[in-house]
Amino acid sequence: MGESLSSYTTLRLGGPAEQLLIHTDPSAWLDTVRLADSRKPFTLGGGSSTVASDDLIPGTVIHMATRGITARRVRADPTMVDLVCAAGEPLDNVVDFALNEKLSGLEYLAGIPGTIGAGPVQNTGAYGQEIADSLYQITAYHWPTARMVRLYGDQCAFRYRFSRFKREPLRWSILEVVLRLRASPTAAPLGYQLLADALGATVGTCPPLAEAVAAVREDRLSRGLAPTADGSDARQAGSAFLDPVISHEQSRHTRLIGAPLRPAGFGGRRVSAGWLLERVGHRPRASLGHGVFCSSRRTLTLTATEPTTSRGFVAVVERLRREVDSAFGIRLEDEPVYLGSPQGTEAARTGPDAPAVEQRDADSP
Ligand SMILES: Cc1cc2nc3c(=O)[nH]c(=O)nc-3n(C[C@H](O)[C@H](O)[C@H](O)COP(=O)(O)OP(=O)(O)OC[C@H]3O[C@@H](n4cnc5c(N)ncnc54)[C@H](O)[C@@H]3O)c2cc1C
Repeated sequence: MGESLSSYTTLRLGGPAEQLLIHTDPSAWLDTVRLADSRKPFTLGGGSSTVASDDLIPGTVIHMATRGITARRVRADPTMVDLVCAAGEPLDNVVDFALNEKLSGLEYLAGIPGTIGAGPVQNTGAYGQEIADSLYQITAYHWPTARMVRLYGDQCAFRYRFSRFKREPLRWSILEVVLRLRASPTAAPLGYQLLADALGATVGTCPPLAEAVAAVREDRLSRGLAPTADGSDARQAGSAFLDPVISHEQSRHTRLIGAPLRPAGFGGRRVSAGWLLERVGHRPRASLGHGVFCSSRRTLTLTATEPTTSRGFVAVVERLRREVDSAFGIRLEDEPVYLGSPQGTEAARTGPDAPAVEQRDADSP
């Protein structure tokens, strides 16, 4: 029996994996493939968007722990630079690297936990910027065909917190990510009013890169989008739910009672999941039972304390989902990925032949 996954997830929950492989050497990927007992392994990055079951997790988990970032000029366009990143490199390190090199395109992703390899899976994003905006190329291993594959950004089916890698779970291990960034001392245009206010600027203008990164980090701290210094929110997996897409009728009803709505493409609307939770009576810091709390600043982020288990965490998530469903007829979808079969999760209901993981869409500020 393998090592417990609780040391590999930010919630610090999770039982042993049947087989846990730590992949550290980019040049030794095929050795890792040979060692894997399963042809449908779960590739784990920083575990900041993963809720792992308390029970034995069947099959192989590969923890992507490769490091390395190199910059490469784009010959055809001297204003652009490619950053070639090993998949296990923390996203925030890549943001810092880009800042030092005066490259724009990642600045609004500062402070997001997790690895760059998971970025294209979730199409990780914040403040109007997402990985898809700068993603040039991915090198990945495709497990069903046992082939190394190069994919360009337009082959990844990116949507809001979604990609082909999410649509095709357990088939891909992303090994290297190439981001194409603009050589510029200024950030991409501000797309977010709160940040613009913090910088004393207007939406649409381009602040200096370093100021943009500092403002993002500050805003994340103040709004509970980064764990607090006192550590009370340390054990979390970000937002528990996506902002759901709602019907025209639901938009009309929720707008009348003050719900924050935003466009969701194709004329649809998303409603704030945090607002829905508050409307059914929850608040930051509230105890939800089983050692699970709403985080100190944010109702939508659930934090774990001793002696929480994944089972307890999932019971709370299911209860919140039911409460919102019965109040509004709106079904909340998970943001994190559920690995294994904690009792009561969707993954547990998928049956013995189903993959050991359920993957869904993701959300961000
Ligand atoms: C405090 C906090 C704040 C957050 N804020 C944001 C935010 O603002 N915006 C946002 O989008 N997200 C946010 N998140 C969620 C999370 O940090 C991101 O989604 C991040 O990209 C996940 O990276 P990870 O390496 O931890 O992924 P993991 O949890 O390890 O994995 C998540 C998914 O990606 C897959 N995966 C991971 N690595 C690979 C790989 N190399 N190849 C193939 N598949 C892989 C896994 O199989 C799984 O399906 C936040 C989380 C926390 C805890």
